[in-house]
Amino acid sequence: MKLSMWSMRPQLAVDLGTANTVVFRRGEGVVLFEPSVVAIDERTGDVHAVGSEARRMIGRTPSYISATRPLRDGVIADFAVTEQMLRHFIRKAAAGNVRSHADVMVCVPSGITQVERNAVTRAALAAGATHAFLIEEPMAAAIGAGLPVGEPVGSLVVDIGGGTTEIAVTALGTLAVMHSIKVGGYQMDDAIIRSVQQRERLLIGQEQAEALKIQIGTATEGGDMESHADVAGRDLATGLLRRVEVSAGEIRRALERPLEQIVAATKDVLEQTPAELSADLIDHGLMLVGGGALLPRLDELLRAETGLPVTIADTPLTTVALGAGQALEELGALKSRRRRRRA
Ligand code: ADP
Ligand code: MG
Repeated sequence: MKLSMWSMRPQLAVDLGTANTVVFRRGEGVVLFEPSVVAIDERTGDVHAVGSEARRMIGRTPSYISATRPLRDGVIADFAVTEQMLRHFIRKAAAGNVRSHADVMVCVPSGITQVERNAVTRAALAAGATHAFLIEEPMAAAIGAGLPVGEPVGSLVVDIGGGTTEIAVTALGTLAVMHSIKVGGYQMDDAIIRSVQQRERLLIGQEQAEALKIQIGTATEGGDMESHADVAGRDLATGLLRRVEVSAGEIRRALERPLEQIVAATKDVLEQTPAELSADLIDHGLMLVGGGALLPRLDELLRAETGLPVTIADTPLTTVALGAGQALEELGALKSRRRRRRA
């Protein structure tokens, strides 16, 4: 009886990412995928919109509505706003079932503090969760990618998100080595903005820079470095709107610095990894997850720099939510086993 009570409650796993929030619902899969953006009315401090709706407002709303990414750097910049965002997403994912008494597993960037963790747990409970659990992002990433985290075998996962890259070696259900840097897709976009500014004397926005990266960005030379994409921005001298063509070669050069930082952090983790686990990594290689994994030839770059085989997760943007969902299921199985033992 108790067993079925656990398994009948809705179970949600929330990947509270710096760029995107993904909600996985047990039995259904991914039920929500929205940018981690909140639009705030600065006159009152009230939350005006959350997620996709808030993102659409950027630059298109009266000046007193400002859009923020409360987790941009992998730390919670504003507790109240983060709480409201999480509450909004949980309620939306539990659609029509507000007092759903769901079990909620929230995956948080591993850089956040204990105080921030408590705030996230509070927000999940306030959103109607009966039980709220937290899981470290690299652990969820490794589980979601199908790595053997529970076994006495080392697995290396590199999760490149918006504001952070998290690199970890898992073994026996723990993070044996772990490193998080504040370099991810956003820093790649910033590097593109700087490059276009210097080379073309043109100021482009974050969204345009991201679009260039997704259209023609690559991590290494090779392929068609001559291919171009159009971008519009503000001329630094005249202040007028102007369009320029940017080449794949220029984008690749712009991405060099942030990619170097990610490679260096990965090498740091390899250096800190105990010898027995290192041997496993040589056999099984590195698993790449997060939106950054979609950058063409990033696997090639990491292979060349680390000497390890590199695998890209099947659906890198939703791997973490999937892994958190699996962790929640396993927790349920564990609890019901304990109950059966007690009975
Ligand atoms: P987080 O977990 O921090 O929320 P995500 O894993 O959702 O981040 O990844 C978001 C990042 O991935 C963004 O910076 C986005 O620009 C980047 N991204 C998404 N698609 C691509 C792509 N095709 N090529 C390169 N970067 C991408
Ligand atoms: Mg992530």
